Amino acid sequence: MFTIGCHLSASKGFTNMGKEALSIGANTFAFFTRNPRGGSAKAIDDADIEGLIKIMEENNFGKLVAHAPYTVNPASDKEQTREFARMCLREDIERMEKLPGNYYNFHPGSHVGQGAEKGIDLIAEILNDVISPDQTTIVLLETMAGKGSEIGRNFEEIKAIIDKLDHPEKVGVCLDSCHVSDGGYDIINDLDGMLEEFDRIIGLDKLKAMHINDSMNPAGAHKDRHQKIGEGHLGLETFVNIINHPVLKDLPFILETPNEMDGYAKEIALLKENYRA
Ligand code: FE
Ligand code: FE
Ligand code: ZN
Repeated sequence: MFTIGCHLSASKGFTNMGKEALSIGANTFAFFTRNPRGGSAKAIDDADIEGLIKIMEENNFGKLVAHAPYTVNPASDKEQTREFARMCLREDIERMEKLPGNYYNFHPGSHVGQGAEKGIDLIAEILNDVISPDQTTIVLLETMAGKGSEIGRNFEEIKAIIDKLDHPEKVGVCLDSCHVSDGGYDIINDLDGMLEEFDRIIGLDKLKAMHINDSMNPAGAHKDRHQKIGEGHLGLETFVNIINHPVLKDLPFILETPNEMDGYAKEIALLKENYRA
């Protein structure tokens, strides 16, 4: 099943996001679990959640890919920032359990000069504190562009985090096409090679979702500037290859492109037209 959607605003609640998704031809979506640049979260209304679950069941939705706020940095050198990350991740996982069995994605963090090894230790420590063996939510580590001191700039760093976890079965990876290209992987000419490397280092069983974004910059730029599908350095053909790839075709694909709702609707229609798998 082709599962595609985009980032939606959570400001009008969960049922509303389900309706918005339907209105643009989506059968999954992403949303920020709380203010992306702040951190406050609204209380959850059970009837509102029920409304979304009903829409998802009736319309054959795939898994949702919620997103943690950008301010979460479990690899920080400041204790206060790490404690905020710990609180956020713990509470968000708890909230996600109201939508059982979906995905919760976060940026692993930035080590801010402490070195990747130290950052990886700090991230794993917090994940081990907040992940419980009985949760249904799968926590996803997003592959990053390698801007500044970002951890997750290559598959080795993601794998190093997973290797330190007490419950690795509760953790997967969200592959972001813009980030992975900016990180230096040649997904334009050698998508297979990138996936083989992912498999060799992390294991394809860990690949749970994709963010599909074109990039304003060439491979290896480490910039992280998203572009509309087909309007950046990756180009439409790269996305046609991605969505039809036997290893990827059934993953939830989330657009994080610079668009308003009508732009997202067009991109979803364009990709559906090109889905053959
Ligand atoms: Fe992200
Ligand atoms: Fe992303
Ligand atoms: Zn990005």
